[in-house]
Amino acid sequence: MNTTSTIEISQSALDNNIKFLKEQFGPDIKLSSVVKGNAYGHGIEQFIPMVEKSGVHHFSVFSADEAWRVFDAAIAVPEVMIMGWLDKDEMRWAIENDVSFWIFDPERLDQALDLSKKLKRRSKIHLEIETGMNRTGLDDTELDYVIMKILDNKEYFILEGICTHYAGAESVANFVRINRQISKFNKSLKKINNLGLNPIMRHTACSAAAMNYPRTRMEMVRIGIMQYGFWPSVETLIQYYNGKIKKHDPLDRIISWKSKIMSLKKVDEGEFISYGTTYLATEEKRIAIIPVGYSHGYSRILSNKGRVLINRQRVAVIGMINMNMLIADVTSIPDVHLGDEVIIIGKQGSQEISVSSFSEISNQVNYELLARLPENIRRESVV
Ligand SMILES: *Cc1c(COP(=O)(O)O)cnc(C)c1O
Repeated sequence: MNTTSTIEISQSALDNNIKFLKEQFGPDIKLSSVVKGNAYGHGIEQFIPMVEKSGVHHFSVFSADEAWRVFDAAIAVPEVMIMGWLDKDEMRWAIENDVSFWIFDPERLDQALDLSKKLKRRSKIHLEIETGMNRTGLDDTELDYVIMKILDNKEYFILEGICTHYAGAESVANFVRINRQISKFNKSLKKINNLGLNPIMRHTACSAAAMNYPRTRMEMVRIGIMQYGFWPSVETLIQYYNGKIKKHDPLDRIISWKSKIMSLKKVDEGEFISYGTTYLATEEKRIAIIPVGYSHGYSRILSNKGRVLINRQRVAVIGMINMNMLIADVTSIPDVHLGDEVIIIGKQGSQEISVSSFSEISNQVNYELLARLPENIRRESVV
């Protein structure tokens, strides 16, 4: 266990976010909580029981190992959907445990059929349609094959869903592309229906699509980033504000990341700080060394750009981020001591550091920084 910093996850902030999302989508749309990437770095083991308390019981993961961890962590028996990777042994486990999985190529369907025959148990499947992202998904010819195969072997499958994923619904630059994807999806759905298959659910929307293109919500939405309290892009938040009198962010970040001052020192005017020459002290500086670096998930991109909170003040991260340490400029804080709390993400007094406030560079930094928070940092649930 790494003890140089601590991650806290707030139940009340999570309750707030889930309530907001459910109000947006209404009672008839199911919310699947996307918990791939160790629940976006929040920690599957901590996050699952908390989001169950907030009233969510369907989970989307990327791979079988994550599905397994969700099962282990859940209080009730969860519904779990694997959107990406599972090998043959894992598929057997999935079928035996009613874990559903996406079919995005014919070989995978053949494998599921094989196993279902052997196990005398149905495979719960979702057909992923290639609609224009050009990643995984069944193209037209593959879809024809898959439909016929399912029709010939109906007793071995539960066709739980038909789905797709959009290639950037968080940015208006992709408006035309997303609309094409929606049309393509509807066309494929019609074909499936006409040939006599009726998937139980249609689901296509991630957070951005669910907010920006309400018609993509269908029967279920797959919500990742917003349940953790982050908007997929500033554009998406601005679109939400559109026409609203009160421009108040309805989401609360649920994560706080804290550390402590490990060392303090004075640096003379004219000296460079940390590796190389990226930061020159243009006056006498007082600096705090904090035991968090890029090996703990604090990206080197934030060298000379990041901010942390110390004694309720927002101070600059100066010099290059090291593997295990970063340096903050505390010259402006009169009363600073070894062991003082340092907020890397989260609130202190009226100040807040959100992930994106140190990453205007790109919203993708939100996703990446969260997902790279190491599993061995201690995580705690708080009110
Ligand atoms: C990650 C992911 C989501 C959730 O995306 P957010 O932007 O975090 O809401 C939904 N669907 C698929 C296929 C995903 O990979």
